[in-house]
Parts: sequence; C-alpha cells; structure tokens
Amino acid sequence: MYPYRAPLREIRFTLHEILHAAHHYADIGREDLNAEFIDSVLEEAARFAEGVVAPTNEAGDRIGVRFEDGQVITPPGFKDAYERFVEAGWAALCGPEEFGGQGLPESFGGPVGELFVSANMSWKMYSGLTDSAVLCLERHAPEHLKQLYLPKMVAGTWTGTMCLTESQSGTDLGLLRTRAEPDGEGTYRINGTKIFITSGEHDLTGNIVHLVLARLPDAPAGTRGISLFLVPKYLPDAAGEPGEPNGVSCGRVEEKMGIHGSATCVINFQNARGWLIGEENAGLKCMFVMMNHARLWVGLQGLAQAERSLQASLAYARERRQGRAARGGEAGTPADLIILHSDVRRMLLTQKALVEGSRILTYFAGLQMDKAAYHPDPEERRKAGDLLAILTPIVKSFVTDAGVEVTSTGIQVHGGHGYIRETGVEQFLRDTRIACIYEGTNGVQALDLLGRKVLGSGGQLARLLGGLIGAFCQNHAGYEELSDYVPRLAGLLKAWSEVTERVAQRAARDPEEVGAAAVDYLQLTGYLCLAWCWAKVAAVSIAALKREPADRGFYEAKLATARFYFTRLLPRADAHLDALDAGAEPVMALAAEHFG
Ligand SMILES: Cc1cc2nc3c(=O)[nH]c(=O)nc-3n(C[C@H](O)[C@H](O)[C@H](O)COP(=O)(O)OP(=O)(O)OC[C@H]3O[C@@H](n4cnc5c(N)ncnc54)[C@H](O)[C@@H]3O)c2cc1C
Repeated sequence: MYPYRAPLREIRFTLHEILHAAHHYADIGREDLNAEFIDSVLEEAARFAEGVVAPTNEAGDRIGVRFEDGQVITPPGFKDAYERFVEAGWAALCGPEEFGGQGLPESFGGPVGELFVSANMSWKMYSGLTDSAVLCLERHAPEHLKQLYLPKMVAGTWTGTMCLTESQSGTDLGLLRTRAEPDGEGTYRINGTKIFITSGEHDLTGNIVHLVLARLPDAPAGTRGISLFLVPKYLPDAAGEPGEPNGVSCGRVEEKMGIHGSATCVINFQNARGWLIGEENAGLKCMFVMMNHARLWVGLQGLAQAERSLQASLAYARERRQGRAARGGEAGTPADLIILHSDVRRMLLTQKALVEGSRILTYFAGLQMDKAAYHPDPEERRKAGDLLAILTPIVKSFVTDAGVEVTSTGIQVHGGHGYIRETGVEQFLRDTRIACIYEGTNGVQALDLLGRKVLGSGGQLARLLGGLIGAFCQNHAGYEELSDYVPRLAGLLKAWSEVTERVAQRAARDPEEVGAAAVDYLQLTGYLCLAWCWAKVAAVSIAALKREPADRGFYEAKLATARFYFTRLLPRADAHLDALDAGAEPVMALAAEHFG
C-alpha cells in the first residue's frame, strides 16, 4: 500500500498557471482569495488528507461498514477522522456564511475535495452529498426549515442524503411509488422504501436529513407528479436538537464491489413526517440542483482515484526491475527498472495525460459554478451557467470513464502484484467503478449532453463551448512552437462542429439517432476538451521554459505529456467521429430476439 501524497505542485499549476484562479476570484468580488490564501488552504487540506484521512482508507476497504440491529457501524477510524474534519471547519468550507459556513466559493470544493477523496473516497461520501443537499435547501427550502437545518448541516454535525432510487425506479424516476400524504398540520406523512441510499444510516452524526422524492395523492403520473420532502431521521426538539425518532429505518446495507466504507442503505419510511421543499409536483426541478452539484463531485471522484493510481504506478515502475530495456540497460544490475520499457512508459503517460488533463477540465467547470452565482455582470452569469450545463455531463462521464481506464491501467503496471490486494491498487478500480453508474449512468449523461444540452438548445450550448476553444485557437494561431497542437485542435473543433450538424440533421428525421450517437459524441467532446486543456498546458509551459525556471523538468514533463496526448491519445477522437457517421442503423438492425 503506497502512502498518499497530495499533488500540490500539480494543483497549484492548474489553479494558478492554467486557470488564473486569483483573477477569477477577483472578478467575482473576492480579491481576498489571492494565490497566497489559496495555497495556504491547500497546504492545510493536504496535511489533513495525508495525516488524518488517508490512514483510514485501508481499514475502510478491508473491514467496511457493519450492520447490527438496524444500526450502521462505520469502519475503524472513520468517526474520529469525521469529528476532526468537522472540528477543523472543513465541512463548512464552502457553506453559506449566513448559516455558519466559511463562505468560500464552490470551486474550492474541487481541489480541496480532490485531496480528501483521494485520501479515502468512501469516507468523503458521508460529507460529500451533504454539501449538495445544503445547496438544494438554500435555494428551495422555506425560511424556517433553513434556520432549523442548515446551521447543523453546514457545520457537518448532521449529514444529508438524496433518496430517489426505488427497486422498480432507477434511471426512470417517473416510476417511483413512495407516497406523501398531507397530515392536516402543514406537513406530510411519507411511506415507501428507497434503495441504494448513500449514507442513509451511519454512526458519524446525531441526525441524518433525508431529501426524499415522493408522490402526493392524485399527482399526475410520471415525472410531473413528483414532489420533494425533507425527512429527518430524528425530529428536532424545541431546542433544535435530535428528538423523537421519525419512522425512518435502515432495512439493509448492501455488499458491494468497492467503496466498502460507504454505507449504501435500504431506507424504509413508515409514516415519517416530512416537510415539502419547493412547490408540489415540482420536486425534480429542486432535486436537479442537488444532482447537478453532485455530478461534478462524482467527476472529481474519478479524477481523485485516478491520481492515486498514477502515484502508485510511478512508485512501482521506479522500483520494480524486470528484463532489459530495448536501448540497453543499466550496467551492474540484473535487470532494468520497468519504467524504462516503452510499453510501461505508454501506460504511465496514458495515466498522466488523462489525470492531469481531467484535473484542468474538472476545476474549470468548478469555476463556472462561482461565475454563474456571483459574477457582477448578468450576461457573464448567464454564459457561465450555460457553460456549466454543457460541461456537467462531460465532467461526470468522461472523467469517471477516464478514472476507470487509469485505475485499470494502474493494475496492469503492477502486473500480477496489481491484482493482489496487498499493493492496494485494485481498490482504486473497485472504488471508482461506481462513479460511472450513480448520479445518472454515463450512458444517460451522454443522452443529456447530446439530446438536452446540444440539440435541445438548438446548438447554442455547443456553439458556446466551441467558441471558447475556437478563441484559444485564434489567439494562438501562427505560433511556430505550438504548431504540433493548435492546428490539430482547430481541425478537431471543425470536425466536431460538422459532425454535430450531421447528427442533428439525422436526429430530426429519426429520434433513435440521438441514443445511438450519444456515448461516442460525449467521448469525442471529452477528447476535444482535453485537447484544449493540453494545448493550454503546452502554451504555458513553452512560455515558462523561456523564463529559465528553476524547475525546468516540471515544464519539460508537461510538454512531453502534451505531445503524448496529442499524438497517442487524441487519435481516439477519430474513431468516435467514424462511429458517429455510421449512424443508428448498425445499432438498431439486430432484432431484440436475435441477440443470442
Ligand atoms: C453504491 C451506490 C450508491 C448509490 N447512491 C444513491 C443515492 O444516494 N441515492 C439514490 O437515490 N440512488 C443511489 N444509487 C442508485 C443509482 O443512482 C442508480 O443505480 C442509477 O441511477 C441507475 O439506476 P438503476 O441501477 O436502476 O439502473 P437502470 O436504470 O435499470 O439502468 C440499467 C441500464 O439501462 C440503461 N438505461 C436506463 N434507462 C435508459 C434510457 N432511457 N436510455 C438509455 N439507456 C438507459 C442504463 O444506462 C444502464 O446501463 C446508488 C447506487 C449505488 C450502486
């Protein structure tokens, strides 16, 4: 098991040199969040992640959660680390000041969250969804509920859940059956069973606040008849502390492939008292605030586990000796380090290019959350909101798929030792695999990107994203030193815009075209976005090298990785273009009964 080391140099490079975070914060009126401040928060978070959270990861996986007499017992060390997390104020970092939070913009949740999720993904899930629930309640809950619940949730002394899924209702929320009936006291009685509820029951906090989707009597069928309710595990007493139990119980905890330390629960609501959030039958709209926030957070999970896998691969490839390198090995040794073999280098560079590129894309999306909420110019707010809308399914799906590729490659770098539990690298793949499934499967996210965001906006959101990449190409056209990057990026952008048009035309004739194209379209868009990120890295690194920096090697590594991305990974985009032009026919030709 390799110790976790927070990649602070990488994170600083991304935030300061690529994304100019301090300027971004000044633009939204937060001049106090300068580079020095950002770095000091990151250093503290790194200390906490490495020293307090990471040591809980192995027991979390090996021992996992236990379920005894309806109670969930979290793995050894989780409770202590959580209490220290709350005490140190990390839970409240981005919480609204009005409710006791530190009021840092949402984008801080990206880099700081990455450190905690890398240290222990399961542990971070107990607080992760609470942040999304806070955002939803802040936007949609009536004032008296905000005053009662938000201070505790912001502080982290109570956690939140999202209760959507039922056994017959997964992707299709229109099928959900949980019922809510008015009780004549201004509240509702909730009855039904939810499954797969993350942190639905645990021993870390005194209360759990469930956000539950349910149907009122006579509600219209389908998604237009769903309302959202706040249902606490314990009803707050007159002092606002956990009082009487509220008809909420945990029926089971699932055994899973990974994230063993995260409690995935069946939650039964039996005449539980609930409070309406937002309007009747408009619950999905409110829940989308929570889901969209959580989707970026899930993308971050893919990145964070991929980073851990990369760290382990690099350490192993620098100590493991097997065979002789093709260009002659190191004299006086029985065999060469595997980092000298070209195929191992291919794997390491694939990991590195996907991790570092995904970090830029994920943090960039995080900055759009701030801009959409706080930029003084309403036009900038609108643009950032639109950009966030198109980037959310890309970050959620492309980065989590990359997470699976990187963590699987990490096992391969370790050979048979990667498949054995002792090295700890197989855990990263098992843990990250779920990120492609929950918060909307990656296939359904791809449908959201192509169907709702691109075609649904009449191409407007695609033009916004394309315009951003196109502006970069224009500003950097004609620079000889960028000739390996900018023309290729501009060419791919053109091909992407044209294929978007062709898919739109086919979809107008046959709606099946959207579903058949969606995943290839998302992957193509993801590779395009990462090419934009790596071209930026190349431009920044070339400029930095001209200044003769002390850490030359860092920028040379960036340039070498950019070259690898453009020459060895970006050709995958061409395969997606070809697949898109093949259309729906090859996918739909086989009758369901003839699949075998
Ligand atoms: C560990 C874990 C934690 C979870 N945490 C939570 C939680 O906290 N709260 C919560 O409410 N839920 C949670 N879930 C549930 C999760 O969000 C669902 O599993 C997920 O949304 C998919 O639903 P499903 O499993 O029913 O699959 P299904 O919806 O049955 O999908 C099966 C397959 O069909 C595809 N598919 C379905 N519909 C379509 C369509 N219209 N078009 C194309 N393809 C389609 C899917 O992409 C998938 O490949 C969790 C699940 C797990 C495993």
